[in-house]
Amino acid sequence: MDVRRRCERRPDRPGGSRYRRCVLKADPSRQWRLLDLQAIDTRLDQITHAKATLPQTPAVEAARRELGALETQIVNARTAHGDVQRELTKSDQDVQLVRDRAARNQARLDAGQGTAKDLQALQHELASLARRQSELEDVELEVMERAESLTANVTELEARRVELEQRVETLEAERDAALAKLATEAEKVASGRADIVAGVGDELIALYEKIRASSGGMAAAELRHRRCGGCRLELGNVDLDRIRKAPQDEVVRCEECRRIMIRTGESGL
Ligand SMILES: [Zn+2]
Repeated sequence: MDVRRRCERRPDRPGGSRYRRCVLKADPSRQWRLLDLQAIDTRLDQITHAKATLPQTPAVEAARRELGALETQIVNARTAHGDVQRELTKSDQDVQLVRDRAARNQARLDAGQGTAKDLQALQHELASLARRQSELEDVELEVMERAESLTANVTELEARRVELEQRVETLEAERDAALAKLATEAEKVASGRADIVAGVGDELIALYEKIRASSGGMAAAELRHRRCGGCRLELGNVDLDRIRKAPQDEVVRCEECRRIMIRTGESGL
C-alpha cells in the first residue's frame, strides 16, 4: 500500500487539539508522477481552450453573417428586378397600343374614305397619337434604364455571393484543419495519461481531481526554491519548517492555495 491516509491532531491550528487534519501518504515516486500528470492535463486544458478560441471561428461566423445579409439583398434586388420587368412589359404594351391605333388611322387616311371633316379629325388624332407615343416611349426608355441598372445590381450581388461562399469555404477549411491538428495533439498528449493515473493511485488521484476542479486546473506543482509552483508565493519559515519535518511520503499542501506541493531536489529545503 503506497497511498494511505493518516489523521492527526493539529494543536497549532485554530480549534486547538480538537483540530484534526487528515494527511495523505504516498510514496514520493507517486507524488512525482503527479507532476507528469499535471503537465499532461495543463496541456490538454490549453488545447481545449485553443479549440474554443480559434481565431478562425469568429472569422467563419462573420463571413456567414455577411453571406446571410447578402442573400437578403439578393432577394430584394430580384424582387425589384421582377417588378421593373413587369413595368417594362406594361410600358411596352402601352406604346404598342398607341402605335396600332396610329397605324389603323393612317390606313383609313390613306384609303381616303369618309368626309373631309372625318379625314381632318383623323389627321388631328394622328398628331395627338404621335405626341402620346413619344411620351410613352420616353417613359419606356426610363423604365428600361432602371431595368438595366437593376439587372446589373443582381449580377454584381450574385458575383459577390460566389466570392463570399468561396471565402466561407476557405475559412471553414482552415478552421477544420486547425481543429484536426489540435485533436491529433490532444490524442498524443493524452495517450500516456491512463498509465500515469494508474501509477499515482486512486486516493491521490481523487484529491488531485478535487483540487483541479476548484483551482483553475492546477492541482499539483513543484515546491521550487521555497516557492509554491501553484500560487507562486514564497513559503514562510513556519511552513518550510513543517515541510522539512514532514516525512517524504507525506503529501504536503500549500497553506495559501491548498494545492499539492511536490518536493524535489530543487525545493530549497
Ligand atoms: Zn500555493
